Amino acid sequence: MKVKKFGGTSVESAERIKNVGRLISECKKDIIVLSAMSGTTNSLLEISSALKNGEKKSAVELIENLNNKYADTISNLFKTEEYKEKATEALDDIFKSLKELSEKSYSLKLEKEIVAKGELMSTCLMNLHMHEEGINSVLLPALDFMKIDMHGEPDDDFIRENVAKLIDAHNDADLYITQGFICRNEEGDIDNLQRGGSDYTASIIGALSGAEEIEIWTDIDGMHNNDPRYVEGTLPVHNLHFEEAAELAYFGAKILHPTCILPAREHNVPVRLLNTMEPTAEGTLIENKLQRGSIKAVAAKDNITAIKIKSGRMLLAYGFLKKVFEIFEKYETSIDMITTSEVGVSLTIDNEKNLSKIEDELKALGTVTIDRDMVIICVVGDLEWTNKGFEAAALEALRNVPVRMISYGGSNYNISFLIKKEDKTKALRLLSYHLF
Ligand code: ASP
Ligand code: MG
Repeated sequence: MKVKKFGGTSVESAERIKNVGRLISECKKDIIVLSAMSGTTNSLLEISSALKNGEKKSAVELIENLNNKYADTISNLFKTEEYKEKATEALDDIFKSLKELSEKSYSLKLEKEIVAKGELMSTCLMNLHMHEEGINSVLLPALDFMKIDMHGEPDDDFIRENVAKLIDAHNDADLYITQGFICRNEEGDIDNLQRGGSDYTASIIGALSGAEEIEIWTDIDGMHNNDPRYVEGTLPVHNLHFEEAAELAYFGAKILHPTCILPAREHNVPVRLLNTMEPTAEGTLIENKLQRGSIKAVAAKDNITAIKIKSGRMLLAYGFLKKVFEIFEKYETSIDMITTSEVGVSLTIDNEKNLSKIEDELKALGTVTIDRDMVIICVVGDLEWTNKGFEAAALEALRNVPVRMISYGGSNYNISFLIKKEDKTKALRLLSYHLF
């Protein structure tokens, strides 16, 4: 059994829904996870923010617009009057409850109920479409099994048990369709797994239901070895270790939600990234296997601030780093990169919210220098320290780029460089040219 997730753009129109329908029509017993149609979650958030601002009229208007869009989709998606009617009836129910929600006064709880409608609509349409095509698909309501605890973490036992129960109750089905993103919290209220959370849903279900593989279908052919917005001729990377993929996800390879990796990795379920527009392309397979001796990809993360604390007192003293870290902890700011010398430490943050307070307190420890608008360039691959030459190759590529910090040895999978924003494109291109 596989879990296959299709994102918003893969179901953004009647044509796209039919395309996904063709892709899943042979999927015996697989679980299909869908996002809302592209744009719908944003529209629902607009509706909720209109309510928040007391603009009832504009909320009602926005609901009408969305309803019309879905009416169009229905008329293009279904062939027979019978199914057009069924779909209209089902969506009317959803829109009716949306209108009822818009009568209530705003709360975060209300917003979450509103925003959950998108995935309910897309899965309802897909399920009816499959029925019209003669396929016995069954909807598994995510709100009956996807649950998070008070820390926002998935409640594994509850999910495992209830997915199994639902599948058992429908074991004659050809395939199962469920909603990404939406869930219930520990109070039993409707909640969600944060924007882009459908990947996470797929990963959780795959991990807890013994899937052989999790497929994430998007509209590009897997992870690329560099950022196509800055570098020409980038290539898809066919194999990645979970750790490599996690590094790349943090460093801005946007196609995979970073937390998505965790459940799959913990339960050792491979994740394959595939392209709905080019279904036969190989894509990227992410698993617990490392290809020795190769550099896989380069990625960059913008808006980085570097902070240097220099102090004579650090020399031969213990406890200095602890004092530095405690200040960051106090202001709930996470540190990404660190380099140290005998007389100072440099580190980076990607959240400047409390920077001035942090700076004030750091000044008690030494001289503080701050560099803004920096970029972390990260080279990912088999960078285990006993391998020779890989660090040198990356450094050699950046021979003519001023480098503010270098971090190597923190993991077996990456080497990171901190450079100025204006050198980013040049650095990415040089690395591609020299490494691939
Ligand atoms: N529909 C949600 C969003 O737009 C979840 C997802 O697409 O993954 O963020
Ligand atoms: Mg080495």
